[in-house]
Amino acid sequence: MPDNEILMEMSGITKNFPGVLALDDVSVSLYKGEILGLLGENGAGKSTLIKILSGAYMLEKGKIIIKGKECKFLSPHESLAAGIRVIYQELTSFEPLTVLENIFAGEVVTNKAGFVSWKEMAAKSKKILSMLGSEINPSELMENLSVGQKQIVEIAKAIHGNAKIIVMDEPTSALDEKEVNTLYSVIRKLREQGVGVIYISHRMEEIFQITDRVAVLRDGKKVGDIKTHETNKFELVNLIVGRELSEQYPKRDIKKGKVIFEVKDLTYLNKVKNVSFNLREGEIVAFFGLLGAGTHQLFSVIFGDKKATSGEIYVDGRMINVTNPNIAKKSGLGYIPIDRKEEGLALVMDLKQNITSANIEEMGAGFILNKRTENEHATKWFNTLNIKAPSIDTLAGSLSGGNQQKVVVAKWLEKNSRILLMNEPTRGIDVGSKSEIYMIAEDLCEKGVGVLMVSSELPEILAISDRVIVMRDGEIVGEFVTKDTDQEELMHLASA
Ligand code: ADP
Ligand code: MG
Repeated sequence: MPDNEILMEMSGITKNFPGVLALDDVSVSLYKGEILGLLGENGAGKSTLIKILSGAYMLEKGKIIIKGKECKFLSPHESLAAGIRVIYQELTSFEPLTVLENIFAGEVVTNKAGFVSWKEMAAKSKKILSMLGSEINPSELMENLSVGQKQIVEIAKAIHGNAKIIVMDEPTSALDEKEVNTLYSVIRKLREQGVGVIYISHRMEEIFQITDRVAVLRDGKKVGDIKTHETNKFELVNLIVGRELSEQYPKRDIKKGKVIFEVKDLTYLNKVKNVSFNLREGEIVAFFGLLGAGTHQLFSVIFGDKKATSGEIYVDGRMINVTNPNIAKKSGLGYIPIDRKEEGLALVMDLKQNITSANIEEMGAGFILNKRTENEHATKWFNTLNIKAPSIDTLAGSLSGGNQQKVVVAKWLEKNSRILLMNEPTRGIDVGSKSEIYMIAEDLCEKGVGVLMVSSELPEILAISDRVIVMRDGEIVGEFVTKDTDQEELMHLASA
């Protein structure tokens, strides 16, 4: 448990970007041996605050006091020297370095005769790693480690560098359950050592498992600062999104039209077996299944990424032969993939290029796009979907997950897709953006679009779908009207 010695105090921190007040008079403190959760929707200002602390951005307004001393970090180097270490979400260690070399980062320990003492360095690395409860071998190559192990090496490196404050930006997003537990025990060890940890996450369970206190940012302002055991999930969600949880996803009553999409006896190898279902205008049909149930494979086949072994697909009663994604697109299907970064977005292109990219033929002759049309179309979706970015000229890669997702949606809306396939539409997205994505899905339904979605989050399925289809081992094992079923029933069927 934290004692009362204050490690760090940031006060009155304000940061402007062109057109965005990213931080507005924010004050946060951190005590010795304390784990502080930093919460907020995408775009709330968390990363900006951390970048100011780490010296990546200049402190323009406000104060940072570390161990009683006012600091004006002019560079990341000075922040490091003050004992602050940020462990970033996407760890990069491309070089063929060993764990030991990474922990020592270029610095060498020499013995009395002036020779590099690998033995001493190895012993020291091992000591730090075992203090963290880890058995990673110091002479192992970094590239052979799992993401979770790499993180632990980064933490060891921070300890070796005498870090007093360690910041972790969504550390568990790429970890499996076992690695998450290992990370938690490492974090608890840090707490015992008196290190202060700032832990950024939007996963509510984690916050309650690991933090002592939480600070909540919303739209650049600090809206909450509470001891974790004195709050609850409900209160935190309210603080994060600024509205009641129950108001978040009120399912609208949307009129259903004719059947626009139908699948008959669709089979793909032994992964998808004789699947049949239909979708009506204005309807959201969700597919639920555990790992390997075939839901994702089914979507790949429908969108033409994989070729069906047998079966038929109909759009508006007309059979289509989807041998590739282009045919699916031309038939009115839009696909929102699981991994926006890999499939849905061109991160190095700006928003307008991304939004209009599924639709290039209509933007003008050949490769010379009609700039004016492009701008008009992109601006329309930028405003309609409330995309949070400085402008349509912003690079897609610089946006938050929720806003990137909106850009992918915009791309298909621009293409006039009538059947939208959403694969885990809100994975890795915070609470507030989630409900915005749900709202968008329902807006589309009101315009006669039909939505097929695959989700592994039952609360999401129960909140927004009209019907839910459960799959297991490639087969449909149940179909329900969503309001007539519940979490237990669906889970039971999926895992039976
Ligand atoms: P979080 O990490 O909580 O998702 P950020 O700190 O990244 O939030 O962003 C806060 C706000 O500042 C957002 O509106 C974001 O678009 C904006 N922003 C962040 N970095 C930049 C930048 N380099 N240039 C312009 N705007 C930025
Ligand atoms: Mg961030």
